[in-house]
Amino acid sequence: MKNRIQIVQKDITTMAVDAIVNAANNSLLGGGGVDGAIHRRAGKKLLAACRTLGGCVTGNAKITLGYNLPASYVIHTVGPVWQGGNHGEADLLASAYWRSLEVAAQKGIKTIAFPAISTGVYGYPVQDAARIALDTVCDFLQDHDLPQKVWFVCFSSQALTIYRELYDALC
Ligand code: ADP
Repeated sequence: MKNRIQIVQKDITTMAVDAIVNAANNSLLGGGGVDGAIHRRAGKKLLAACRTLGGCVTGNAKITLGYNLPASYVIHTVGPVWQGGNHGEADLLASAYWRSLEVAAQKGIKTIAFPAISTGVYGYPVQDAARIALDTVCDFLQDHDLPQKVWFVCFSSQALTIYRELYDALC
């Protein structure tokens, strides 16, 4: 599965893939961080499309077009807010990755890029979140032909180092 996974340090809004994943909030009506950056670059039509979706529960994912983004689609998922680790955060984070991949596969998406969901304002420790991200994506790819390629897009060099180390340890 490793050959279907890439780790890069970039601004996810510049990624020319079939779909980028947005670390959104339950309203799907925009926010700060990566969500704000995606909405700014995609333009107002993205917010209009999101308004029709009726929000999203934590751990689920919904899809829209990408509008002015280089990516054709945006998959909006909601990760958990970190509350110390005993509130189902790990399962909810895994579900956010898994559901995003299911939605992507249903659309026939071949290439997808993920940010480090929940590791910004939502406060999930990056190392723990990155392990869940890699394990969940690896598990999914094992049993699915789509997406063919998955990018993990790190915003900081610290996140890049953590992802690279975990990637090297993957079998
Ligand atoms: P959350 O609310 O899920 O924690 P944030 O947007 O606050 O979402 O942060 C999620 C991750 O996205 C953080 O690791 C942050 O550094 C990263 N990030 C912020 N902007 C971008 C961007 N333009 N491209 C890729 N990653 C980004």
